[in-house]
Amino acid sequence: MVAKSGAKATGASPGSDLDPLTGVDNRQGFLKRLEARLQSEAVPRCALLLIGIDDFRAFNDMHGHAEGDLILQRVARRLRDASPRDAAIGRIGSDEFGVLLPSIADPTLVRHVGAAILSMLSSPHENAGGRHHVLASIGACVIPAAGEQGSDVLAAASLALARAKHDGGRTIRFFKPQMRSDVTTRLSLVQALHEAYAQRQFELLYQPQVDLRDGRVHGAEALMRWRHPTRGLLAPAAFIDALAGSSIASDVGMWLLQTACAQARAWSLAFPQPPRVAINLFAAQLSESRLLTEVRHVLRALELAPDCLEIEITETIALQQGDEVADQLQALRRDGVTLTCDDFGTGYASLSFLKSFPVDRLKIDQSFIRNVTEDPVDAAIVRSVINVGASLHIGVVAEGVETPEQRDFLLANGCHEAQGYLYGRPMPAERLTEMLRQQSGR
Ligand code: C2E
Ligand code: CA
Ligand code: CA
Repeated sequence: MVAKSGAKATGASPGSDLDPLTGVDNRQGFLKRLEARLQSEAVPRCALLLIGIDDFRAFNDMHGHAEGDLILQRVARRLRDASPRDAAIGRIGSDEFGVLLPSIADPTLVRHVGAAILSMLSSPHENAGGRHHVLASIGACVIPAAGEQGSDVLAAASLALARAKHDGGRTIRFFKPQMRSDVTTRLSLVQALHEAYAQRQFELLYQPQVDLRDGRVHGAEALMRWRHPTRGLLAPAAFIDALAGSSIASDVGMWLLQTACAQARAWSLAFPQPPRVAINLFAAQLSESRLLTEVRHVLRALELAPDCLEIEITETIALQQGDEVADQLQALRRDGVTLTCDDFGTGYASLSFLKSFPVDRLKIDQSFIRNVTEDPVDAAIVRSVINVGASLHIGVVAEGVETPEQRDFLLANGCHEAQGYLYGRPMPAERLTEMLRQQSGR
């Protein structure tokens, strides 16, 4: 029912429906096959899997495009091996492949095929350039539920894939009609965020960072909140993804920078040993060449010493950027601004990242701290991050410390800095000022 060779099946000029790199159908060829299958019966019963390689752009940046091309070729071959014989395979986008299952529509079976694909893709790829682990996510949909037109079905699978990636990747998600309305909800959220910015409804809270040995506050992380007119004070989980992807991200980021620096300046006037203030950057701020000049401008205008500012950046965001951004951040480091790798250990290639992207501090992700006293794997990870920091002579700060047992573990293993509910939740600046006043005896 589904022919193997795109060129023969469609009668197009040889190769025109094929992806030259991988030899499978290209998007156009794959869509033709999908349409043909959809029209082959009154009520076609089949399924589509859309496979996206997680963080492929980061992979390319790190290992080069030639190595990336090899991986794509391998992925195409493995997809063929892991799929039923009658499946059609296509390369839909630069790092996305489609697998049409022409005779399966039972979700349990589809999930089974998807799991086989994820498992086969995840075994390491041995190339001349090294040994690589490729992780992928899958958006799945069954037909006819997902639509009648090929493009609708593909769009449905895309929504499911986006959900799989959003849920952390390396997993499969099925399309649900609800996902279409979620897109609409997201659009209205973005609209509301524009309004919120114009109405100055964003605020910053500050969470203390302490020296574990004496409990004294040395720093504070600025964390954003949205004072919503009807829903109260909203945590970032409710809006930060939508904000980060919106066109105001960069402007809001600059507002954050200014606000946090103004607060840092106030503390530096009030206290002999003021806390260093850390801010989180949006990816959008990094992709602009104005970051360096803006930060320098703000520091100068406020007469704030660069060592009062810390910039937190996740390796995932850092790796998405080009050399120019890395140069800007390194220039800020040379000025004296502290650069910290946030959520360290959760990213794509933490150790090789440090080689190409020097930082002053590592922030151990809270997911490793949560069970550090019970889970030997988490304990081993935390210990090894502390050792990496010590060997490279860079600071290590633990995030999400909630219990005295977690503190004791960190101290016993040589980590002296932490942030967490044990020492204080994110709080208004005035409350942190109060803490600082008490500790300085003023
Ligand atoms: P993050 O940068 O990893 O921030 C740390 C998060 O962990 C904060 O959540 C903080 O309140 C929470 N946390 C700290 N200590 C503990 C603890 O002991 N236990 C538990 N359970 N949680 C703890 P928050 O404020 O909800 O922020 C969540 C995320 O939103 C941040 O993660 C960051 O990625 C993003 N975000 C927040 N503010 C900003 C901002 O101003 N700019 C940007 N770009 N992103 C922000
Ligand atoms: Ca952070
Ligand atoms: Ca973090």
